[in-house]
Order: sequence, then structure tokens, then C-alpha cells
Amino acid sequence: MRWRHMDGHSDILIIGAGMAGLSAAAALASTGQSILVLDKGRGPGGRMAARRVEIAGEQASFDHGAQYFTARDPAFREVVAAWETAGVASRWPAAGDDAWVGAPGMNAPIRAMAEALDVRWNVRAERLRRGSAHLHVDAAGQSFTAAAVLVAVPAEQAAVLLADVAPDLAALAGEVQSAPCWAVMAGFAAPLPIIGDTFRSVTGPVSWAARNSAKPGRSGAETWVIHAAPERSRRLLDWPKDEVAQTLLADFFAATGSPPATPIHLDAHRWLYALPQALTGEGARFDPALGLGIAGDYLHSPRVEGAWLSGRALAGKVLQERLASTS
Ligand SMILES: Cc1cc2nc3c(=O)[nH]c(=O)nc-3n(C[C@H](O)[C@H](O)[C@H](O)COP(=O)(O)OP(=O)(O)OC[C@H]3O[C@@H](n4cnc5c(N)ncnc54)[C@H](O)[C@@H]3O)c2cc1C
Repeated sequence: MRWRHMDGHSDILIIGAGMAGLSAAAALASTGQSILVLDKGRGPGGRMAARRVEIAGEQASFDHGAQYFTARDPAFREVVAAWETAGVASRWPAAGDDAWVGAPGMNAPIRAMAEALDVRWNVRAERLRRGSAHLHVDAAGQSFTAAAVLVAVPAEQAAVLLADVAPDLAALAGEVQSAPCWAVMAGFAAPLPIIGDTFRSVTGPVSWAARNSAKPGRSGAETWVIHAAPERSRRLLDWPKDEVAQTLLADFFAATGSPPATPIHLDAHRWLYALPQALTGEGARFDPALGLGIAGDYLHSPRVEGAWLSGRALAGKVLQERLASTS
């Protein structure tokens, strides 16, 4: 596929190739505009990340961010049905009748969406500037220009990026507070004697745990992902990750009643901005005078589906504005 913005200029530049940014990009690209998406990650995922590892000589992967997603909105259901047909999403009844997961990893739908677009990985947007004719995005030693820039990153990071060029949007994003989440990834030589493949608690230190290896399309050793509750995550926020992993593994065995087993793989990841307290309302915001917009789960609901709906809402606002300005 040939892209029309090889010189670093695009009609619309989107910062963030998570579900919100790619949903906006997909909706806008289908109208023929040139879209460029930048993401600081090494590969597709955002908070729908999947980490590949080798355990005992076998490949395995951990979904250490979002665990599953629901599809309730009719338009999102259609998209998820297409993902299922394409083999990048499967139902996961262990988490509920309406639960879906990416397959073979949680990031598979993100990868599939990104493959149909021009997404540059490993490019962190550092600064937004207004030039005489265009908006400029300075990123990783390069400079990109665009007529409009859409910022689809977690609220706290959007507030920083937008502070100089769009103080009102920055202030809106700045109202949001996200809860952190420590995620532990543990592999075992034999299945743990826990009934069922998921564990949830609203009061304990472990809010969620899942037998990752039992999700559809996964292979390799017995693996578990363990999420610390927000309060527990806050208390452990600055601990070294190895200590966090050991501490939360002990919490997990105590919570599930499983006899402690020695893991053959153990790691932890800290999500600083895991789950936002979402602002209710419009779903996205676009300032036509500035050519700047924001999308993300924090503007809709703190879920994969909320991020997709927010991205689509932002695309709708941009297109509405384009139509109004050409009529
Ligand atoms: C631990 C955890 C558990 C969760 N569990 C669930 C669940 O079970 N079900 C559910 O539906 N949802 C769950 N979620 C929430 C869900 O993952 C999010 O709501 C959704 O993925 C958010 O999508 P987004 O596009 O708004 O943001 P993100 O996925 O965070 O995407 C933002 C992207 O922007 C990029 N970025 C950030 N700053 C820059 C920059 N300066 N330059 C370039 N790129 C940048 C990031 O690399 C990232 O790819 C969970 C999240 C976490 C962390």
C-alpha cells in the first residue's frame, strides 16, 4: 500500500495507536483522508498488551493489561464479529457470556487494525507546536506536520502534550485520575489446583487473576496473570518489581487457597495509568479552531469498548466539521 504522506505531512496525525486512536484512524481513513499514527510502543497493544516469553523451552504469552472485553454497542459488535471471522478474537466464556479476548494474544485486534493503516511504532511524540500553516509534532528526532492532530493517549499524558497548544483540552484531560495496577505474570511447571480459570475480588489485595494459558488460542506452560487491586497497587507503587511479584504471588495463593507453588517464570509490570475514572459525557472532544482533538477510554468508559467508541466519536466530530467547512 502507498501512503500519501511520505514527506512527514498528513491530513490528520494521531498520537497513540491503542484502541481509541486506531478506531478513530480506521473511521477517518475510510473517508480517503491521509492518516498517520504514531505510537511510542515497540509493537501493537497499548493497554491491550500481550508479552511473549519462553518458558521451559516453549513459547507462551501473557495478557498483562486488559483481560477480556465486552461488546454491547451494535456497531462495536459488528467490528468484533469481523475480528472473530478474521481469527483475531474469540469468545472466552470463563469470564462471562459476553466476554471476548484477542487471539492468539490480547493485542491481536490492535495488530490487525494497525496493519490496515500507516502506524509508526517506537515513535514517542514529545512536543506539539503550532506553525504558520500546520501543526507540528516533534517525535524521536523527527518532525511531522498535519492539518489536524488527534491525541489518543491516557489522560494524564494527554494533559502534558496539550498544555501549550490547547490549554482547555489539557485541563479537561487533567481532571482525570487513573488508578495504577501492578500485574504479575507467573508460569508454573504443572496446573495449579484452582477451580475455574478466573478469580475476582472486590475487597482483597488481588482484584483479578486468570489462567492465561486457558484462554482460546494460547499454548505453552500453565500461566497466570494476577492484578493487584488499586489500593494494593498504590502501596507497592515504587517497590522493585521482583519484590512486588513475590508479594503479590503470596497474596494470590492466600486469596485462592491454592497451595503455594514455585513459579518457573515470574515477572511484574506496573501500569501507572491503568484504569481512569472516566469523565462522563461527550465521548471525545474536537476543537475545530485549533485542529486538535482528544479520545480515549477516559472520555467514555474505562474499557476496551469505551476506547473504541471514543475513537469513533472523535472521528465523527472531525468529519462533521470537515463537512460543515466545505458546505
Ligand atoms: C491492568 C489493566 C486491566 C484492564 N482490564 C480490562 C478489562 O478486563 N476489560 C476491558 O474492557 N478493559 C480493561 N482495561 C482497560 C483497557 O485496556 C483500556 O480501556 C483501553 O485499552 C484503552 O485504550 P486507549 O486507546 O484509550 O488507551 P491505550 O491502550 O493506553 O493506548 C494509548 C497508546 O498511546 C501510546 N502513547 C502514549 N503516549 C504516547 C506518546 N507521547 N507518543 C506516542 N504514543 C504514545 C501508548 O503506547 C499506547 O499504545 C484494563 C487496563 C489495564 C491496564
